[in-house]
Amino acid sequence: MTIQTPIDAIEADPAPRRATVGVDVGGVLVGGGAPVVVQSMTNTDTADIDATVAQVAALSKAGSEIVRITVDRDESAAAVPKVRERLERLGMNVPLVGDFHYIGHKLLADHPACAEALAKYRINPGNVGFRDKRDKQFSDIVEMAIRYDKPVRIGVNWGSLDQELLTRLMDANNASPKPRSARAVTREAIIQSALLSAALAEEIGLPKTKIILSAKVSQVQDLIAVYRDLSRRTDHALHLGLTEAGMGSKGIVASSAAMGILLQDGIGDTIRVSLTPEPGGDRTKEVQVAQELLQTMGFRQFIPVVAACPGCGRTTSTVFQELAEKIQNDIRVNMPVWREKYPGVEALNVAVMGCIVNGPGESKHADIGISLPGTGETPAAPVFVDGKKSVTLRGPNIAAEFQAMVADYIERRFGQGRSAAE
Ligand code: SF4
Repeated sequence: MTIQTPIDAIEADPAPRRATVGVDVGGVLVGGGAPVVVQSMTNTDTADIDATVAQVAALSKAGSEIVRITVDRDESAAAVPKVRERLERLGMNVPLVGDFHYIGHKLLADHPACAEALAKYRINPGNVGFRDKRDKQFSDIVEMAIRYDKPVRIGVNWGSLDQELLTRLMDANNASPKPRSARAVTREAIIQSALLSAALAEEIGLPKTKIILSAKVSQVQDLIAVYRDLSRRTDHALHLGLTEAGMGSKGIVASSAAMGILLQDGIGDTIRVSLTPEPGGDRTKEVQVAQELLQTMGFRQFIPVVAACPGCGRTTSTVFQELAEKIQNDIRVNMPVWREKYPGVEALNVAVMGCIVNGPGESKHADIGISLPGTGETPAAPVFVDGKKSVTLRGPNIAAEFQAMVADYIERRFGQGRSAAE
């Protein structure tokens, strides 16, 4: 029996990226066809210069291409140029974005060195001021952006949505013969808040090449609906993020599900994964997750991939789990150096497999892979290099020997004296 496969059924590519207007954020292009940019945000008090410099440096080293910092009061605004300067001295020119709420217009006016040091200003139209003050204070920040030649992100967040706009839309909805759900009206208010604010900024004189929009909500389905709609209604560059995503696996899954679907639709020019760290936890986790999301979906390559089987009853020893973890950790720790020393190393694929069922097959697909012996199998681990069996490792030092082989492979393939075959 033959099975006919319709050609459409085997297409596996994402939708083409939506065309957006590119925005230069301190030398990093967002939108305009540029690769999706990874960004993150500090959780230090910006006035604590040592802590902020250390965290920005860690985020940048982990791969964050833009870092946002809180600018909430005079002390933090005064610290911004010092943070910038200290980073420069460390050789780090990662663009810094100032996150402003309520008094951004005043802080930027009172601290010109802060306005200059920042690469972008983030404005939340929902809390830039209220009633008659709102447009004035919003305009002041936009004028400051024009004066200092900086882009802005108009970042709407449904936790701080413009209540006057929402009330107006709710009232109109209630009076309509076919009212929509309150949730749908709220989504519309979020989108309108972003679009109306962008229109106002452009009217004041800030060009579209200086405006990025975001419209963050905390529910996956709402985020997908909001951004699909927003991207149909504007060609502004879009910043994606699920707000209040949460801690641990919940935050990772929710952010990946929401942003994965949007990226697959071609929507999104920069992403931030808003994870709540464990107390004292590592802030760089959000950068790692953002990179892994983009890499697993095939949009960008940041770091070598380690394919490991999940393990099952055929391999009750922990050797392969330990080896997969060691290789993964080795790669992550060494990556900042490897990036410079071994150009192209991020394309490397390593496989660590638990038994003969899928081990040799998966290992052959990797650049270098090992198939460890499962329960009851001969204690031998064939290693495959570039699809061909290279050696069979035996004895108690299999893990260390394989690690050495991976290091050697990287040196040969990506090092200065890379083999002639490359
Ligand atoms: S490769 Fe072997 S050990 Fe790993 S999941 Fe498959 S059957 Fe189980």
